[in-house]
Amino acid sequence: VKGNFNKRISYFTDEIINQLEKEQQLIHDVTVGLENKEFTFYLQPKCNSETGAIVSMEALSRWISPVRGFVSPGEFIPFLENNGMITSLDTYIWDAVCQTLSYWKHDHLYVVPISINVSVADIETINVPEYLQDLITKYDLSPEMLLVEITETAFSENNIIVRETIDQLHQHGFCVLMDDFGSGYSSLNMLKDTNVDILKLDMKFIEMNPGNCQKGIQIIDSIVNMAHKLNLPIIAEGVESPEQIAMLHSMNCIYAQGYYFYKPMPISDAEDLLTTVPHE
Ligand code: C2E
Ligand code: CA
Ligand code: CA
Ligand code: CA
Repeated sequence: VKGNFNKRISYFTDEIINQLEKEQQLIHDVTVGLENKEFTFYLQPKCNSETGAIVSMEALSRWISPVRGFVSPGEFIPFLENNGMITSLDTYIWDAVCQTLSYWKHDHLYVVPISINVSVADIETINVPEYLQDLITKYDLSPEMLLVEITETAFSENNIIVRETIDQLHQHGFCVLMDDFGSGYSSLNMLKDTNVDILKLDMKFIEMNPGNCQKGIQIIDSIVNMAHKLNLPIIAEGVESPEQIAMLHSMNCIYAQGYYFYKPMPISDAEDLLTTVPHE
């Protein structure tokens, strides 16, 4: 029995060491990746689903690693959020987004605002409003060109600092979106205390295939109604089918983002798109 026990202990120890080594390797690869500019972002348009016009785009980070290949944010963002490295990546991406906007401003006729994703860890680590102000000064942009997406869970975790951050962002002229709205448990309560400018309806509502589910439709309808009553524009996320568009239209939910319109695309593709597709 004792021998077996020791074997199991050493098995678990090996597992833990293995896990730690993997994390050390990931930290190393991300650090090197940031130095070597392996990170970039894709752009996904948000559309007026009635006219097809592009109203803005969202920057979603992508890691093209020579060792790991194409890594999706679902794999590295939560990890970076947990070990304090997310702000290095985010500030890098925000700078790159502003650079792109400035390039558009100088070289293209049409520019749409780009939204960036801000993690609660960023808000706790640096002064995000001042950081963004410095960036738009550096690139000679107006604050309307940069939209700030903060995920709903940030509001429950650290309400006061998030609220203050939003107030400061407003003072600098930035517009704030509440991302993944409806995904948490305290959404409705939080709306009362925060003054975000736009809601993004979490894609899980759209995903539940509302075409077959009366209850699902009524939940979405109620959320959209509430947004309208509060005078908050609402964008439906994860829209993939014409049936979903029809349902959203019947609720007067006009703005949408999802594969039905466009998948996230490389910056150069987004630039081509801006020259051919109408925008508001
Ligand atoms: P998010 O901000 O909610 O972004 C939406 C995610 O849904 C993106 O995944 C997008 O590619 C995907 N998506 C868009 N349309 C559809 C659709 O019609 N159907 C389906 N099934 N999915 C769709 P992605 O790019 O993998 O990003 C995942 C999450 O990682 C993002 O969720 C965001 O929370 C986070 N993230 C991405 N880039 C950054 C970043 O630069 N900084 C931070 N802090 N977080 C980021
Ligand atoms: Ca987002
Ligand atoms: Ca979202
Ligand atoms: Ca999210």
